[in-house]
Amino acid sequence: MKSAAKITNSNELINIKMQIFSKKNIDAAKADIEAAKKVVITAHLNPDGDALGSTLALYNFLKDKKECHVVYPNNIPDTFKWMPGCGDIIIWDNEQAHSILAEADLLFLLDFNTASRVDKMQKMVEESPAVKIMIDHHPNPQEGLCKHVFSDPEAAAASELVFLFCKECGYNLSIDSARCLYTGIVTDTGCFQFNCTTQRTFQVAGQLAAFGFDRSEIIHHIYDSYSEGRMRLMGYVLSQKMVVFPQYHAAYISLTKAEADQFDYRVGDTEGFVNLPLCIQDVEFSAFFMERDGLIRCSFRSKGNFKVNTIAERYFNGGGHDNAAGGKSYKPLEEIVQRFVSLLPKITRPLQPQTRRRFVRYTKSPNPNPQKP
Ligand code: 5GP
Ligand code: MN
Repeated sequence: MKSAAKITNSNELINIKMQIFSKKNIDAAKADIEAAKKVVITAHLNPDGDALGSTLALYNFLKDKKECHVVYPNNIPDTFKWMPGCGDIIIWDNEQAHSILAEADLLFLLDFNTASRVDKMQKMVEESPAVKIMIDHHPNPQEGLCKHVFSDPEAAAASELVFLFCKECGYNLSIDSARCLYTGIVTDTGCFQFNCTTQRTFQVAGQLAAFGFDRSEIIHHIYDSYSEGRMRLMGYVLSQKMVVFPQYHAAYISLTKAEADQFDYRVGDTEGFVNLPLCIQDVEFSAFFMERDGLIRCSFRSKGNFKVNTIAERYFNGGGHDNAAGGKSYKPLEEIVQRFVSLLPKITRPLQPQTRRRFVRYTKSPNPNPQKP
């Protein structure tokens, strides 16, 4: 019989004896933060709840202490416009953004691992002489980009790491910062349902919950505030555009710009669509292809230990996490879809009957010592 986990005192709960948060690393980053006069915080293109949550949490902490700006490569989905500090975000199209970035002496790069993920801002971010601090949970952080790198691919969200970073630095976060971090964790874990959710994720969420904000209000903002167009677009893609391949345990959805426009498409309206086919029993790999901003955005999701980041990297000019990845292509939509379909027999081999027993496992192996995640 499995032994029961010992119930620990809440102060002992968060096990962050991780190399990345060593005293030496924290002290060095803290000294640079203290010395900085002009801070810019940025996150990846098409910011999601975690990008916004991690950046705005830090922004709400720093904004009263120094000159601090959040600069993003592109627009924010309406779903997140309620977040504290969101109204202060500067988009790269804004003329101000260039001089703000040029003058910064400290840059925070949150929720992304390579400079290419900030799109049009890439060159300036790479060439900026500012001290750069990365806090991120994507595998393989770009070498030589940042002076301080707090990277942990085991973290469910960058927001989880920003919480731990602030805790180690001894920073007292406000309730607004806590709401932001909770939003980041909720969105990147799919409300704590994905495998990336660990014991530590719950511990961090628990400490955030202790701030006493209204958690159901956050869920309401994100999941119960769809526009009619988004809801109808979802119905359309499910009934008309989803293609299922039972033999490959796979499915995809493709969407042209014209189709999206019929439903008054706004940024963020297709968020989560890639997850929908995974609700089908035995579909373990899902893809979503959409014409957007003059290119095709590709999203991939999987269940279990079928990795989609390697597929995104190898075939779709992208990357990401084991179970959630993305990429892009400048080829026509039909061509990309055709290519995807032709790759299916090969790339889904681990899901097929003859090989799947060796590969598919839904949960991580049981931890022999539940106190040591
Ligand atoms: P999404 O499908 O939500 O756009 O992205 C899922 C995951 O894949 C995110 O963690 C995101 O950071 C990563 N991702 C999305 N697009 C790209 C891309 O073009 N390049 C890389 N390296 N990662 C991506
Ligand atoms: Mn994230």
